[in-house]
Amino acid sequence: MNGHQIKSAEAARDYAFAGKAIITLVSEATGTRYTYKITASDSGRVHFVSYLRGPDNGNDYCYIGFIRQSGSDSGRFIHGGVKAKADRDSLVCRAIRWTISHLTRPTPELPDKLQVWHEGRCGKCGKRLTVPESIETGLGPYCARAAGVRPAKRSSVRSAKPALVVKEHTPDDQEMARMEAEADREQTQREEQAKFEFKQAVESVPEPPEAASGSLDELRRRFSA
Ligand SMILES: [Zn+2]
Repeated sequence: MNGHQIKSAEAARDYAFAGKAIITLVSEATGTRYTYKITASDSGRVHFVSYLRGPDNGNDYCYIGFIRQSGSDSGRFIHGGVKAKADRDSLVCRAIRWTISHLTRPTPELPDKLQVWHEGRCGKCGKRLTVPESIETGLGPYCARAAGVRPAKRSSVRSAKPALVVKEHTPDDQEMARMEAEADREQTQREEQAKFEFKQAVESVPEPPEAASGSLDELRRRFSA
C-alpha cells in the first residue's frame, strides 16, 4: 500500500478530524479496505464523510454521512439518509461507524485487527509529509501545533475532556491561509538574509594588492612563495 500506518489511537483520532483527512481502514482479519475522506465544514462543527468507490483514485468520492462535534450524537458517524451513496448497513458504513465510535471515546481506542492508514499527506493542509514524526501521525509539524496537538502532554490533557477536543483548536480556512502566508513570508525573509550575508562575505574578501597591475609571473611567484 502506498501509505503509512498510524499506530496510536490518539494520533488516528487527531488525524481523522484534522479537516482534510484521507484515511484508509484495513481489516487484518479479512483484508478488506476502504478509503474515506473526512472533511470539516467551514464552521468545523460537522465533518462530512465520503468514501472512495472502486480501487482507483480516479473514481470520485461518494458521500455517505457525517459526524457532528456537539450534541447528543456528537462523535458518532451518522448515515446521510437519502443523499448517501451507500446503504446504512453496508460494510463501508459499518466500518467507519465502528472505527469512529472507538476513536471518539474519552480514551480513544484502535479496534483490534484494524489498521488505520494515511496517504503521506497532512490531514489538515494536504501537503506532502516529510518529517518522520509527521509521517507517524499524519499531521505536519506546523499543522499539529496549530491544531493544539502536543505529543508529550497530549494524553493527560485530553483524557479529562470529552472526545474531539481538537476541533476547538482547528483554524478555519481564512486562518489557515494567514498562517501559510506568514510561513511563506518567514521563508522569504530567511532566504533574503542568507543572500545578503553571502553578498557581504563575498564583498569583504580583500583584493590581493597589485593583483590587477601585476604580471602573471609576479602573481605566480607570490603564490608559490
Ligand atoms: Zn499541514
